[in-house]
This record gives sequence, C-alpha cells and structure tokens, in this order.
Amino acid sequence: MAAGEEIWCQGWSEPDAGSDLAGIRSRAVRNDAGDGWLLTGQKTWASRGAFAEWCFGIFRTDPKRNATAPDLLLIAMDSPGVTVRPIPQIDGETGFAEIFFDGVEVPDSQVLGEEGSGWSVAMSTAAASAA
Ligand SMILES: Cc1cc2nc3c(=O)[nH]c(=O)nc-3n(C[C@H](O)[C@H](O)[C@H](O)COP(=O)(O)OP(=O)(O)OC[C@H]3O[C@@H](n4cnc5c(N)ncnc54)[C@H](O)[C@@H]3O)c2cc1C
Repeated sequence: MAAGEEIWCQGWSEPDAGSDLAGIRSRAVRNDAGDGWLLTGQKTWASRGAFAEWCFGIFRTDPKRNATAPDLLLIAMDSPGVTVRPIPQIDGETGFAEIFFDGVEVPDSQVLGEEGSGWSVAMSTAAASAA
C-alpha cells in the first residue's frame, strides 16, 4: 500500500453516516462455513474507490454491541457482490465512488485487529493520515 503497488480505498462513510460515523449500518454476518463474513451495505465518497483494487472498511458485526465496536475488514474490490458506482466530478476526473456490498464473502484472515476493534483501528488510521 505504501509503495503504491496496490491502490486501496477507505470504506467508512455511508449515506446516513458521515460526521456521525458511529451510525454506520453496513453489516457483516458469519458465513455458513463459520470461517468468514458476508457483507451487505453501502459506502460512499470513497477516494480512489473508482479504480482501487482493495478497500478497508468498517462493518457492524454484532448488532447488540455498541455502535463504536465494528470490525475493520480488508476487501478485494473484484470480489463477487461488490458493485462500484463512480461519482462524477465537476473537473471531469473520476476518483470518488459509491461502493455496494451484496453478500460479499470475506475470510477471517482479512479481519484487521481484535474482534470489535474496528473503531480504534479506524481512528488510529485517521490520526496517522492527518499527521
Ligand atoms: C475530499 C473528500 C474525500 C473523502 N474521502 C473519503 C474516503 O476516502 N472514505 C470515506 O469513507 N469517506 C470519505 N469522505 C467523506 C467524508 O468523510 C464525509 O464527507 C464527512 O465525514 C462528512 O459527512 P457528510 O458528507 O455525510 O456530512 P454531514 O455529516 O451530513 O455534515 C453536513 C454538515 O453538517 C455539520 N454537522 C454534522 N453533524 C453536526 C453536529 N452534530 N453538530 C453540528 N454540525 C454538524 C457538518 O460539519 C457539515 O457542515 C471524503 C470527503 C471529502 C470531502
């Protein structure tokens, strides 16, 4: 990622969860085999989302858990069930995108950090990118 050999985008914001990021609704539920997750939901404003190969996104994995305890998953953008809709810009360039997840399968090996730690991982990422 740092070398720019792979393009990644950040899947945090949703249509009704921007400043209020803890209001995300995108969900991850266990798959039938019990070795991964199935993602559903929508992200928006993902910078580089129109051409990224990977996305790191936050998803609610346990509806009973506090909204600020999602998980952070690493998603290959060519996974079945991922739909990318580029957002046109006034200058004609296309970089931002909406990303739709419809039963996207993600293995346990692509969950970053401890269970329920997605919020602190995301906030550390935001702090590092703002520095
Ligand atoms: C250049 C750019 C790149 C971006 N890249 C990404 C990305 O890569 N990945 C990603 O996930 N998102 C990205 N975003 C989205 C960005 O994180 C959201 O736009 C941001 O979180 C604001 O959310 P919103 O647009 O829904 O605005 P809203 O949350 O609806 O806010 C609208 C206005 O209301 C104000 N407001 C909101 N809540 C309150 C409150 N409680 N009290 C007072 N005022 C309030 C805000 O300050 C703002 O002026 C990007 C945005 C921009 C502009």
